[in-house]
Amino acid sequence: MIKGLELLSTLIGRKVNSEMRAGHCVACLDHRAINGLCDGCRADLPVNRWRCQRCALPLAIPSGTLTCGECMRTPPTFTRTLAPWRYQYPVDAMIGRYKYRGQRKFARPLVAGLGDYLENHLRTCPESVPELIIPAPMHRRRRRKRGFNQADDIAEALSCRLAIPWCARTVRRSRHARPQRDLGRAQRLANLQGVFTVTRPLPLRIAIVDDVITTGATVRSLTDALRDAGAEDVQVWALARTPG
Ligand SMILES: [Zn+2]
Ligand SMILES: [Zn+2]
Repeated sequence: MIKGLELLSTLIGRKVNSEMRAGHCVACLDHRAINGLCDGCRADLPVNRWRCQRCALPLAIPSGTLTCGECMRTPPTFTRTLAPWRYQYPVDAMIGRYKYRGQRKFARPLVAGLGDYLENHLRTCPESVPELIIPAPMHRRRRRKRGFNQADDIAEALSCRLAIPWCARTVRRSRHARPQRDLGRAQRLANLQGVFTVTRPLPLRIAIVDDVITTGATVRSLTDALRDAGAEDVQVWALARTPG
């Protein structure tokens, strides 16, 4: 019975995947989609237009050069964050389907869009091209539970697209921190102290990749570990940034 169901779900999966390749939109099923989204649904995605120039926190004031209060008070050691969307509907729902249900087709349009966004940025700012892409590491226990690390998937796709090497083994997440969302700012940073261990020599310019930047505490802590190990310029790439 279970074998039969597995076979059926594989067949359905294949059919859905072949339909996706044929160009159906993951949001409205319109058949004129490119990279999994039709033009209308792509235009509806919440673009992170006005944002902090350091951590990409969405800002209410139209400005491309402002720094948010948090980055003014305690400047992060990363140089910039590039995240094309705000973590709002439907981007949050698409990332959720991908991350918690393993439905990769929902991530495909977002990852392709992030690739376009980064390519444009790196073209206008060639001195910021990193030498290595490092996915935000997941503790092995959580990875085992989920079956994959979404940051590895995104890093691999961006590496192909941008022709920049990636490596998931450069940094280890050495212990399982408590969930960050229940903690205050100081507690969050303390919670992550010593969590990341760099295990290999690093180049000078690095991009950290994650799916969503929420509090920024994880990428701050990871950047500190990379800087302590010799990296000079660390930037952060993500699909989306949560509003304050
Ligand atoms: Zn659509
Ligand atoms: Zn900021």
